[in-house]
This record gives sequence, C-alpha cells and structure tokens, in this order.
Amino acid sequence: MNGYFITGTDTDVGKTLATAALLRALLDAGRNAVALKPVQTGCPRQDGRLMAEDPAVYARFAGPYFPDGYPEACCRKFVPACSPHLAAEAAGETLDPDDLAAGVERLAHGYDTVLVEGAGGCAVPLGNGRTMLDLMARLDLPVVVVADNKLGAVNHALMTVEVLRGRGLDVAGVIMTNATPPTAGDEGLRRDNVKAIAELSGVPILADIPHLSGAPVDEITAHAARALEYLPGPRPVDDGLDFDRDHIWHPYTSALEPLPVNKVRSARGARIVLDDGRELVDGMASWWCAIHGYGRPELLRAARHQLGRLPHVMFGGLTHDPAIGLCRDLLDMAPDGLNHVFLADSGSVSVEAAIKMALQYMQAKGETGRTRLFTVRGGYHGDTCGAMSVCDPDNGMHHLFSGLLPKQIFAPVPDCPFREPFDPERFRETERIFRERQAEIAAVIVEPIVQGAGGMRFYHPEYLRRLRRLADEHGVLLILDEIATGFGRTGKLFACEWSSVTPDILCVGKALTGGTMTLAAVLATNDVARTISQDGGVFMHGPTFMGNPLACAVARASLGILRDTDWQARVRAVEGWLEESFGPCRELPGVADVRVLGAIGVVEMENPVNVPNLQRFFVDHGVWLRPFGKLIYAMPPYIINRDETARLGAAIHDAITARAHQ
Ligand SMILES: *Cc1c(COP(=O)(O)O)cnc(C)c1O
Repeated sequence: MNGYFITGTDTDVGKTLATAALLRALLDAGRNAVALKPVQTGCPRQDGRLMAEDPAVYARFAGPYFPDGYPEACCRKFVPACSPHLAAEAAGETLDPDDLAAGVERLAHGYDTVLVEGAGGCAVPLGNGRTMLDLMARLDLPVVVVADNKLGAVNHALMTVEVLRGRGLDVAGVIMTNATPPTAGDEGLRRDNVKAIAELSGVPILADIPHLSGAPVDEITAHAARALEYLPGPRPVDDGLDFDRDHIWHPYTSALEPLPVNKVRSARGARIVLDDGRELVDGMASWWCAIHGYGRPELLRAARHQLGRLPHVMFGGLTHDPAIGLCRDLLDMAPDGLNHVFLADSGSVSVEAAIKMALQYMQAKGETGRTRLFTVRGGYHGDTCGAMSVCDPDNGMHHLFSGLLPKQIFAPVPDCPFREPFDPERFRETERIFRERQAEIAAVIVEPIVQGAGGMRFYHPEYLRRLRRLADEHGVLLILDEIATGFGRTGKLFACEWSSVTPDILCVGKALTGGTMTLAAVLATNDVARTISQDGGVFMHGPTFMGNPLACAVARASLGILRDTDWQARVRAVEGWLEESFGPCRELPGVADVRVLGAIGVVEMENPVNVPNLQRFFVDHGVWLRPFGKLIYAMPPYIINRDETARLGAAIHDAITARAHQ
C-alpha cells in the first residue's frame, strides 16, 4: 500500500480539511487517490445507518472524481463523540490495530495512493494498551503531521514528530493550518511558529494553509497542493539486494555464490515483516536471542531512555548505573556462588574471556602445566580462536585453522539422552580420557544439557553432575557455556539447574538483551576472581565497548521482563505446543528423531538437508526457520502462541512431505 498517514496535534477539523484538500490535489495531479478513516467517532444515525463526518468532507472536495458517490471510507464507526477506545467500549466492541490495518488495506484496494486519517493525535488510545501509534506502525506509511497554528503549536508539533521517530516511522513533513483568523497581535507568533517547527523538527513544512473558513474547495486545494512537491509518487526504488549479493558477507557464506537472502522491513511479536509486506512466524528468535519477541515496549523504552542519556562511555576508570544494575541483577539470578561479572561484547568473546580466566587462575596457583581445556565432541562455543578450539573438531573449523588453534582434549559426544535413564557406561570413556590427561587440564568447558549449534542434542543431567565431580576431584575449573541455554530456554532459568550444578565460570549472551543488541557476560566465583588477582594480578581483557551502557540498560530491562512474567509457564506451554505440532513428523520417511525440551523443538533428518530449498519453502509458507546439517529446528520467542507454533510444525511437516529438504 502506498500513501500517507495523516495525524494531528490538536487540530480539530483542520486535519480533515488538510486531508481532503491533499486528496483533491492528488486527484488533480492525476493520481488515483482515496482518503480513508480507520475509526470515526461521533457518527449520527440516519435512516438506520451511521453517518461519518470526515468522509463527507472528502466527498465535498473530491466529488467530481467520484461520480457514483464517494466510496465507503470508514473501517469502524461509533456514535459517541469521544476517544475511540471509549466509543468502542460503549458499543461493547474492541479495536485491534491489526484488524484496522486489514480494514484499511481492503478499502485501499485498487488505489495507487491512500491517505489514512487518524482519529486525533498519534497517542490516542485504542484500548487494550494499544494506541494509534500501533496502527501507524502496522501500516508503516510515511506520516504527515497537521498542526494548527496557535500558541503551543511548536511544542505539540515537535513532540509528535519525536514520538513518531521513536517508533521508527518516517515523518514526511508538517502541514500548518489556521483554525482561526490571525489577529494583529499574533501574526508574528504564527510566522515564528512555522519557522521554529521547520528548524527544530528537521522535517519540511509541506504546506501552510491560511485561515480559509468557508473558502471554495479550489482555493484551499491550491494551498495544500504545495505539499505534492515533497510527496513523491510511487517510483521504483533500488532494494539494495544486488549490492548486498555483490559486496556484503552474510554468516558462513561464499562471496561468489551466496545463499539468497530475504529483506526484512520490521518485526513485532513473533512475526518478521518482509520488505514486500509478507509476515513470517519467527521460529528462530533471531538465533535464539529474541526471547520476548520483537518490539517489546519495555526494551524499546529502556533503549530510548539510555540513548538520550549516555549511549556509551569507556569502562576503564569509569562506571555507570546500567552496568551496576545489570551485574547486580545477574548475580541475583545466577546460581549461588557466582560473585563477579566480566562484561563482554559477544558470546564468543565471553568464551575467550572465560578461557583466559581459567588459564590465569592456574598460573596464579602455580599450576603452570594446566594449559589445556577438556571438552566433549559435538559442542559449539563460538567463532573466535579460543572458542573454535573447543568446538567439535570434525564439524567445527579445526581443519581450516589447525595451525593456529590450541590443541584441546576431547571426550566423546555425551550420548545419554535427556529423557532416557542414565547409563553410567556412557561416561566411562569421558572419565578415562580425563584421568589420563588431567595434569594438563585447566578447565572443563561444556554447554550444559543442550548442545546447540553443534547438533541440538539434549543430554542427561547426571552426565553434567559427573563432570563437576571429576573437575572437583582434580582441582580443575568447570566453565559452563549457557550462551544458548541461559534465561529460560530449556525450562530452567539456567540449564545447569537441571543438574543442580554450579560452575566456577559461567558464560551468558544471546538472550541477555532480549535480542536487541550484542552483549555477553562471564560470571565467576570468588575463588576464581580472587586467585587471579592475588599478589597484584589483574585479569587481562578489556574490549573497547566493554560495559556498553545502552546494551546494559536493555539487558536489565530484559531480565526485568523475566522477573515480572511467568516465563516458566510460557516456556512450558511452548514445550507442549512444540511437542504437539512437531510430533507428527516422527511418522515421516527420512526423519531420524523428533525431540523437544523447553522452547526448543528439533526434527533430525537421516541425511543433511538442502538449506536453500527448505528456506524458500518455509518463506513461501509464512514461517522463518533456518535448518543446518541434518537438523530442522525451532527456538521461537517465548511469546509465540499455539497457532503460530502449529504453523511452524505444519510447515516442517509439509516441507518433508513435499521433499523440499532433498
Ligand atoms: C551462539 C553461541 C556462542 C557464540 O556467541 P556469539 O554471540 O555468536 O559470539 C557461544 N556458545 C554457544 C553455546 C552459543 O550458542
């Protein structure tokens, strides 16, 4: 849909007049335009029908272009002349931005330019915590602000423009109207208002319509028509995809033959909105981090607040409330015994920091022979060098960087499924290798319970308990990488709680900021922190953007959402829906296993899948999933609902049935 959303400051009829005149100007310029009203209140009843006032004004201006009468222009009409949410409530109805947007799109069908006139200003409530802004964001049209030129106009116009920008909406400009004739005393004020709005808002004054009460349509239209200079019609734009393909690296891709990419316009809730307007149910939570869904007001508010105050300052020699508050909250939530926090800028960097901590710890203790890490096969810990060295040696990147990577010690994949009885035999080889090499080992590093990007395996809590015991027996540290599992993903706040194990060092990342920006943290025990620091020692790491206040503020808000919501019930519900919708895939040929734990659902195929084919199939079927290897899996936002989860499961079932994976 192409066009503009028209909102007012406190313009009374000025907004409707400006809309009608703009409509007429567009029609005069040869555009196939229409003006619409999603909600109209104050509609008198005539002959059993509700009459809408504003469309009558559009009809007066645009009449000649609609010889059969002005089309139906209102989605919802109400009798009381009051705020839409109250009018709807009085009628026993509700207003939903999605429904209103769908209504507008229906009425706009067949027109090349549509003017959507809001009811009142942009923050007008629609009920259920939603406002006109939600409808505007949903329609995503550039916004024209109509401001009545009077005392207070600058303040109102600037506030409106700022609020719109804060929601990520494009502001096309401001149309000034004059509801009353100027007086000798206020002509200067009005001139200054126009100038001040233009200067301070940074958007153009599209038109300045003088006081024209009772003036002929042509005269008012002539003033409004100035706006057309600034409001270009639809024209082909470069979507940038050619540039993207030729010049931009995406994760793990060839510069010569990159996998196709889809362009995203926005995202909200559990939906990703593509550039062409299609909506996809998000089964990935943006690689497992957007746990609260997209556009959470609490996160956006925290970001905006911190952005206005202090987006960044160096952490060396300085500190700030966002970091202090976040670290306090993290330690409160984390398993008992963890008392120190190191803030890192990404998961991989936090793993590097954790490894360095372990090595500095052993050096400080004089155990200089302990320089290696002990881990299990099938793990994934990130893409930087230290992290790569503990990723699975066959599926990881060891063969590419073998000259560079430190040689670590690997035990077999923990082959003891989460939901099956624990077989002690499955730990024997791990224990043997550990004991044989124990003198070289500084730390054990594993992902607790869930091996993520290394294979989406869920292993038995007893396995982790035994690793903890082994480490303790030999004075070796246990590093748990909860970057994927932390903050509720497995049904526990931290996956190590399944085993009641506390690590010496804990890495968190991914969901830490609720998927808003990059941040990770390393938590350590008193023993680790104090041993490293004894005899004047310092921990040797300090990234430029360490403790970034913006990221810390958002992370704190994300932890706040977890604290204030019953995330456990949500994750349990998602677990049930994943089981319900993924379960039927068990019966399909080519499927090796279907497993679900918390908000993680996995369909493991017998053979590696055709990722580009599947990706195309999924997008065509309205879901966003990104399979890898033999795995088709979902890690959706916790706020996903049952229908949306069912769509993920159905899309996977249909894809396998249609052999899109081959
Ligand atoms: C994603 C991930 C990492 C790496 O985090 P980045 O932020 O991508 O560097 C490390 N460990 C685990 C378990 C992960 O899932």
